[in-house]
Amino acid sequence: MATFSTAPPSPTGGGAVINGNGDGTTGTTTPPGDILPPSSNGDQPIGDVYASSEAIPCDSRTRDLGIFDGYHGGILTKVRLCELDMPSSGSEDGGKARVNSRVSGAFASLVDAAKAAGLNPSANSSFRSQAHQQALWDANPNPAKVARPGNSNHQMGLAIDFSMTGTGSTSNCKTISGICTPSVHSDLYDWLRANSCTYGIRQYNGEFWHFDTLDDSTRSCGAI
Ligand SMILES: [Zn+2]
Repeated sequence: MATFSTAPPSPTGGGAVINGNGDGTTGTTTPPGDILPPSSNGDQPIGDVYASSEAIPCDSRTRDLGIFDGYHGGILTKVRLCELDMPSSGSEDGGKARVNSRVSGAFASLVDAAKAAGLNPSANSSFRSQAHQQALWDANPNPAKVARPGNSNHQMGLAIDFSMTGTGSTSNCKTISGICTPSVHSDLYDWLRANSCTYGIRQYNGEFWHFDTLDDSTRSCGAI
């Protein structure tokens, strides 16, 4: 009887790698060795957030989920994902928001500070697999609305779509100074605008619910 090796390649030499299932299912097993001891990551993104984060431990306030297939610029980039203590309804999130280890301290600090301010933050989406982003693109192939597969900051674990209670439709913008703001007041939105800069996190100007760590003219933060 022939036998076949099914072991995946291990380009980094760090042992077996695991992938997000990409279809909202669970059941991924985490081989020993893919979990790093947590450490205090402070409250800022660490290094080049578009570089692999396999070797960066998760912040001690988060839970190490192991290594996933991230994408940036269409290129597969391995990322270590960390589970935040914040609920998420995202189909791939397993109940809690998950972010790249390089930004796990920044997002953990943001979430902790929001809770300390009396808010109850939650997410609608955080990390996305290539298959998930492809499905979103196929449903709405408009680069003004959906990032092309392989090019969303969600695919690097750098973005969170927050649930803005009280804002009604998530696509209902009241544009102020070129920035999409909620058409109905949201305490969480106001708080995020006023405080996200402190942690190196900013709003995508086209979507009031999307916050990530990109720092260019398409992002902004500060009270509005
Ligand atoms: Zn988003």
